[in-house]
Amino acid sequence: MTRRIAVLNQKGGVGKTTTTVNLAAALAHEGHRTLVLDLDPQAHATLHLGLMPGRSGPSLYDVLTQGLPLKDVRRQVADNLFICGSHIDLAAAEVELIGTVGREVILRDLLAADEADDAPYDFVLMDCPPSLGILTLNALCAAQEVFIPLQAHFLALHGLSKLLETIHLVSKRVNRDLRVSGVVLCLYDSGTRLGAEVIDDLERFFEARRQAHSPWSDAQIFKSRIRRNIRLAECPSFGQSIFQYAPSSRGAADYSSLAGEIQGRPPTGSWASTDSATTAPEPDSDGELPAVTRPARVDEPSSAPAA
Ligand code: ADP
Ligand code: MG
Repeated sequence: MTRRIAVLNQKGGVGKTTTTVNLAAALAHEGHRTLVLDLDPQAHATLHLGLMPGRSGPSLYDVLTQGLPLKDVRRQVADNLFICGSHIDLAAAEVELIGTVGREVILRDLLAADEADDAPYDFVLMDCPPSLGILTLNALCAAQEVFIPLQAHFLALHGLSKLLETIHLVSKRVNRDLRVSGVVLCLYDSGTRLGAEVIDDLERFFEARRQAHSPWSDAQIFKSRIRRNIRLAECPSFGQSIFQYAPSSRGAADYSSLAGEIQGRPPTGSWASTDSATTAPEPDSDGELPAVTRPARVDEPSSAPAA
């Protein structure tokens, strides 16, 4: 059974792309056949996985507007890891699809066709844009689960009601299977009072809204926290996941833990014990920078002149 997961928060900069890419890489690393769908016109997930948007041929823009099969867009970037890339053109799809009947289920139908055609995936992770437009609706109609990345700061919960309302509408009208599985705390500063307070607020927020049969009735705050880690911020510019760029970093450890937790394994980490307000925040560095040079992107001609 494929798990299709939309990674969604209409706020920018909360860790959606970082989570999509590195969680997908962790799952692929474990041997699960994993597909990333980059639905953000900014194409950050595409770049993060080493592809140049546009250079590698058609993108999800062509899938959504022309009905191109996913297999014509899909690229393999590592063992078990595939991506259907984005392109800035995808921004125009919001407008171009306005008159199209059934525009919010295009991705769902093409994904089903793709899986019937080829080997099914174990996981499909969708990186959503920071908005609740037609691209996000396509993700919500194609998904069974939503992961909400959240940054633990004092406005973290702002906008969450609106997000849940959208998920509720989609689940009522189009996709009855849709569930919010959980919240991923990203850019987490362990040992700070703020982190602990935001977690309390979040627990109360869900508790107050936990009606039976709502898509978030079983939502949890994942125990695996993604700590602020400089390696996670560095690896996109190398076109590599954290498991390629810095496999022994905290970033890799945190995403491995999350990958295990979402499959029912106990989280492996020390965040829980460092929530105390008295502990000093941990430094985000893993020590000295390794001697790495930026590798060529998968689709970059090797003879390309230096920029
Ligand atoms: P979104 O997709 O929600 O806009 P990103 O995943 O792109 O958010 O993250 C925003 C920025 O924060 C990026 O520059 C990313 O590299 C950085 N970042 C994300 N998670 C972490 C982390 N745990 N530690 C350090 N930097 C992070
Ligand atoms: Mg993003």
